[in-house]
Amino acid sequence: MNSGSRKTQKPFIIPVFLPHAGCPQRCVFCDQATITGENPSLPSTESLRKQVNSFIAFKSKQRKDVQVAFYGGNFLGLGEKIVRMLLKEATAFVQAGKVDSIRFSTRPDTIDAVRLNWLKNYPVSTIELGVQSMDDGVLALSNRGHTTRDTEKAVGLLKENNYQIGLQLMLGLPGDDEDRAINSAEKAAALSPDFVRIYPTLVLKKSPLARLFRKGQYVPLSLEAAVSLTKKLYRIFESRTIPVIRMGLQASEDLDAGTDILSGPYHPAFGQLVYADLFLDKARLLLRNSENRSKDITFQVHPRSMSRLQGIRNRNLQTLKEELGLRSIAVATDDTLAENELKVLAAKR
Ligand code: SF4
Repeated sequence: MNSGSRKTQKPFIIPVFLPHAGCPQRCVFCDQATITGENPSLPSTESLRKQVNSFIAFKSKQRKDVQVAFYGGNFLGLGEKIVRMLLKEATAFVQAGKVDSIRFSTRPDTIDAVRLNWLKNYPVSTIELGVQSMDDGVLALSNRGHTTRDTEKAVGLLKENNYQIGLQLMLGLPGDDEDRAINSAEKAAALSPDFVRIYPTLVLKKSPLARLFRKGQYVPLSLEAAVSLTKKLYRIFESRTIPVIRMGLQASEDLDAGTDILSGPYHPAFGQLVYADLFLDKARLLLRNSENRSKDITFQVHPRSMSRLQGIRNRNLQTLKEELGLRSIAVATDDTLAENELKVLAAKR
């Protein structure tokens, strides 16, 4: 059972982490000491059921679209027997009416007709590809073991089979730079995925990248540069109405407990920094193009975008006041606006 239409409602995701299982080699940024392609440490069926049930207990009644998500490894690299076993467990929840569908993340080079055939009788709706870059030089230097052509072929096959497609991209990998990152995002956007995630590269202590970093052979992006570049990529996807559902890693969700970040542009609210920058640019443009000359401004945004406009610790409003010589800035909310929309109610200066 596949579902191919773009969905607007955010699904309620029940994550099942398969700790770096099914990987054929070690990517330069990966901090796993053991690549567990042969003997992956998988959750027992009992712990998997327990985990899914405990998430279901926390789901509010409003959340309709519920998905079990196999994350953290290379799902289709696990082999047919394990893939079917995990899908069977998740499918039991769908059959019981507790879950709507299944999603997982996998490497682009694991998408082929044989493996897609394994999925046929299970309610998989969404497949996320760890694309990381659409530049073959960057992929090779990152020891990814796949090419951009693998990603293009994978997306084509997933589209033919009507899966929802998510692409994960990384910034600041070895050999990457601003032009390559932008070019890579444009190529990814041209594949017209249903959504994307953007992750700036972090230097994790136990990764091969840490060795390069210590030898001075790898320099991570600064936080400022990572925010600025992520913003540029966000705009590329936004201009094609492709949702960016995550920017930056979150310690609690994306990094294993005990993962040490040696260096790199980590911030606990990285996505918020990018959104704040996007709104600051929007506000500047709006006020500079406005014919009104008031020193007291009232902006209007969707309630969920209030903090994005204000910026962390109201920094955006302070910046606007200083740059444009304003006396006061008020923010009103209007839930009929789109989340990325910004209006100014009175801008007479
Ligand atoms: S980064 Fe992902 S694909 Fe690469 S080795 Fe680690 S878990 Fe596997």
